[in-house]
Amino acid sequence: MFSGAKRTLIAMAAWAACTASVATTAPAPLQAGAGFAQQILALRAAAYLQPRTALQELERLKDTTAPLTPAQRGQALEVAASAEFWLQESGEGLKLASQLEQLGREQRDDVLVAKGLLERATILSKKMHDTPTARRLFRQAADIAAGTGDAYVRTRALVALAQFSAEDGELEAGLPLVEQALALAREADDRDAMLMALRARANLLAAHGRFKAAFDSVDELRQLARRRGLPIQQARAYITDSEIAVRAGQAERSRAALRDAVALLRTIKAEEVLPAAMVKLADAEMRAGNVGRAQALSMDARAMAAARQDRDTVAAADFTLGLAQIRLHQAAQGERAAQQGLAWFRDDERYVPMLLDYGHALALAGDRDGALKVYDDAGRTLLALSRRDKELARESVIAAAEIQKQASENEALNRENAGKQRALEQERKLKTLWWLLSIVCAAGAVVTALLYHRIRVSNRSLREMNTTLYEQSTSDALTGLRNRNYFYQRAAGLFGTPTAGSDARMGAFFLMDIDRFKSVNDTWGHAVGDDVLKAVAARLADSVRGDDLLMRWGGEEFLVFVPDIDDVEACAFARRLLHAVHATPVVSGELSIATSVSVGFAMWPMRCDGAQLGWERQVHLADLALYLSKAGGRNRAHGVCGPQALTAKALAAMEQDLGQAAHDGLVDLPCIRCDEAPHHVPENAPAAADARVPAPIPA
Ligand code: GH3
Ligand code: MG
Ligand code: MG
Repeated sequence: MFSGAKRTLIAMAAWAACTASVATTAPAPLQAGAGFAQQILALRAAAYLQPRTALQELERLKDTTAPLTPAQRGQALEVAASAEFWLQESGEGLKLASQLEQLGREQRDDVLVAKGLLERATILSKKMHDTPTARRLFRQAADIAAGTGDAYVRTRALVALAQFSAEDGELEAGLPLVEQALALAREADDRDAMLMALRARANLLAAHGRFKAAFDSVDELRQLARRRGLPIQQARAYITDSEIAVRAGQAERSRAALRDAVALLRTIKAEEVLPAAMVKLADAEMRAGNVGRAQALSMDARAMAAARQDRDTVAAADFTLGLAQIRLHQAAQGERAAQQGLAWFRDDERYVPMLLDYGHALALAGDRDGALKVYDDAGRTLLALSRRDKELARESVIAAAEIQKQASENEALNRENAGKQRALEQERKLKTLWWLLSIVCAAGAVVTALLYHRIRVSNRSLREMNTTLYEQSTSDALTGLRNRNYFYQRAAGLFGTPTAGSDARMGAFFLMDIDRFKSVNDTWGHAVGDDVLKAVAARLADSVRGDDLLMRWGGEEFLVFVPDIDDVEACAFARRLLHAVHATPVVSGELSIATSVSVGFAMWPMRCDGAQLGWERQVHLADLALYLSKAGGRNRAHGVCGPQALTAKALAAMEQDLGQAAHDGLVDLPCIRCDEAPHHVPENAPAAADARVPAPIPA
């Protein structure tokens, strides 16, 4: 459901992206002989670079430790949620984070609650662009964490708030928070918390352009990681070092840090992340002029990544290999490999810098025409990008336009079959072009990154646009209610498997369908029909509470999920809905139109032979109940109220004929008429000819 977000501009850090599609086993980050407490901390540290491995090892650890205490279950959920996040599995991550939070509430353990909230807020902020909710949850988590004695979760909450502020455009607000986090971690002498705070501090300082101070943090980070003794944390420190060095324009330092990282990852056989690190190193070697070494590294990395079906890294390796081959005058082979790699990154923020490198390699190998074509493509892409944000990227637009002009001049020159003089001039222009593009694409290290960074991070207008797009795609334009999309996005988090032993008093799904709506359209036209739809939506919206999830389910159907009610309250709520719609006619222009809805509802959660029914199955039960309301004369409700634990046979009978199942005593199915006390069916058998046909059972 969320996989579409995998390869967007708002992609995560390249390192995480490199780990997105890896498979199979890798050596354990676990420490032999260590107890659960130590092992789970090792897995927590591994979740970023080796999420898949961490998940596999977590399963093993759970098996060998079982039964887990609630606190251990919480730690395991924390690791799993974080690993799913780095695997870009937002839906799964949200589900686990909610379970963690719920476990914390059941156990009255604020540390677990805060961790659950933090995981949830991180996914909402980074993957779903739900900034307002994320902000609320981060603050709530920080408040709850502050009341605990757990230095790690307190540090984590402060760091998360700092990063969120910075990404929300308030860079200045981030630094004091991160300093506070670091002081707290130092005082508690919690080394994992210190590592986290130092890393965040280094990144924020680098974002401020304060590289000297950033490197001070990096140096401390490296030392501390070594002393902590978890190689994967050390590798992560090297990687942070190399990333900050790139931003500071210190290519040599970056290459050295990458060499450290690759050597260490090789030693600990961290195959999930090693190929991606090798590609980075290959790239750095090529920039340093070590083309042969770059070629060898890329080939190794490609083979390793292919064996793991890690397509992202295979493509990156193809690209670097292609450039090395071009530089080594294996033009045809090299261009094929480079273009194959490039194609994979078309929608990625790495695309333009990659094009520049490609053009540069072609130019160095003497293929000027090829280089110009590639720069032209880069300019066009940049221009398109710049259009995404006119205001903040104005300088880049001007530069890109300039490049465009020069590029087309060059093309014209090409066509004139230039003589030697021309060739010289072209050479000069080529250099200028590359230089110009470099200016656009490489201030400090890469202006494109800055542009993307601006677009992605500090650019309020784009974020607002994202929010608007998200709002648009999840809202119904006519009624202003949420739509099905929104429900699908939230469903995994809301209706996943509840924690064992949790209270069953959880809520109910209500489906509502306007009665004889087609005749409104047929009699007075669609505009009047639309007015009725809007009025019904508004009346329903007035009848629900803030926590209820109301949406236009389609056509003239609405769905609302109401949490925290029992069957008696659900019957009362159904009556309120009927009354809200029917009490007064809808006014449209001169017309006054008597309007009603029929309602079907189903209590949630229900179990069948021990397993919880999926929400789709439950909504289908509500739909069957709605069908009975239509058949029974409309403007009424039927509710599937129990039993909450069903046998497969009873469920099959209900889905076959709900009215009959109620008649046979298999299900408690109260009927509520508008303004009347509930009584129980069967009262009259469904008159199929008069009723709408319910949808088939979802697979
Ligand atoms: P019943 O009581 O059995 O539900 O009868 P009905 O007429 O409401 O049911 P039916 O499903 O036959 O008709 C639904 C109508 O809703 C058909 C469709 O044209 C109309 N409709 C769906 N979406 C819209 C909309 O956005 N605007 C308008 N005006 N009509 C819509
Ligand atoms: Mg209808
Ligand atoms: Mg309908």
